Amino acid sequence: MTTQQQRYPQRVRNELRFRELTVLRVERIGAGFQRIVLGGDALEGFSSKGFDDHTKVFFPQPGSTFTPPQVTDEGIVWGDGPRPASRDYTPLYDESRHELAIDFFIHDGGVACDWAMNAKAGDSLTIGGPRGSLVVPEDYAWQFYVCDESGMPALRRRLEGLDTLAVRPEVNAVVTIADAAYKDYLAHLSHYNIEWVIGHDAQAVANKLAAAKVPEAEYYIWLTGEGAVVKSLLDLVETKNVDQNLVRGQAYWHKK
Ligand SMILES: Cc1cc2nc3c(=O)[nH]c(=O)nc-3n(C[C@H](O)[C@H](O)[C@H](O)COP(=O)(O)OP(=O)(O)OC[C@H]3O[C@@H](n4cnc5c(N)ncnc54)[C@H](O)[C@@H]3O)c2cc1C
Repeated sequence: MTTQQQRYPQRVRNELRFRELTVLRVERIGAGFQRIVLGGDALEGFSSKGFDDHTKVFFPQPGSTFTPPQVTDEGIVWGDGPRPASRDYTPLYDESRHELAIDFFIHDGGVACDWAMNAKAGDSLTIGGPRGSLVVPEDYAWQFYVCDESGMPALRRRLEGLDTLAVRPEVNAVVTIADAAYKDYLAHLSHYNIEWVIGHDAQAVANKLAAAKVPEAEYYIWLTGEGAVVKSLLDLVETKNVDQNLVRGQAYWHKK
């Protein structure tokens, strides 16, 4: 293995488990996010090593019960009956408190968002995973992040992690949001260079990426957000002479 390969992000797998957790607290985090803090014995052994890990969250129809699937050697075996709606969310695990927080961006008309807005202490929520993680070295000298509201929890987790390093890397982040009020979610991380695009102007985001001067080595580029936006950013990044192993692009949601 060459030195450069050793510096690539590494995939790690977790044992897949479905966990029925209990809502401990509901908090409003800034203007845009509803935080649900989960706990319970089923959280035992929870592990999330990648800042952009995802946990599948299940939302049964009101009044219906949900039996999580069995994880067998042959794969995941679902029981009879309708499967509940599920959505991906960034796990924010506090190991010292043994609590798992999920920050739901508040938007119109979604099963996940509606659930979060009505959740109360004592409610149950079933989650699955994270099944695996991409562990991205924290000390890449130059790091570039693009996200919208849906990626802000992952970005926040990442930047809080970088805060613990003895030497902070150069971080440039472009965060596109519908309303300037949502900035408060990252206010405690303003020592990083966060450029805001207010009003979801995809061209303005692309221009910032186009203008970025990517160094020859020791860099990492993370692009998330609405599907079509991420696709065009990935196309743009392909025109730059960058190692695709050091680029991660992922649609976090799709405009319907
Ligand atoms: C790896 C990963 C991690 C994620 N982490 C988080 C997280 O920590 N917090 C978080 O809030 N989201 C996160 N998301 C995004 C989240 O899964 C989606 O936004 C999801 O669609 C929300 O589900 P919903 O049921 O509320 O809305 P849906 O029922 O899926 O959609 C309802 C309507 O809302 C629109 N919509 C969906 N999401 C958004 C949005 N973000 N902004 C504006 N309109 C939207 C849809 O286009 C649709 O018209 C993550 C996604 C991935 C893939």
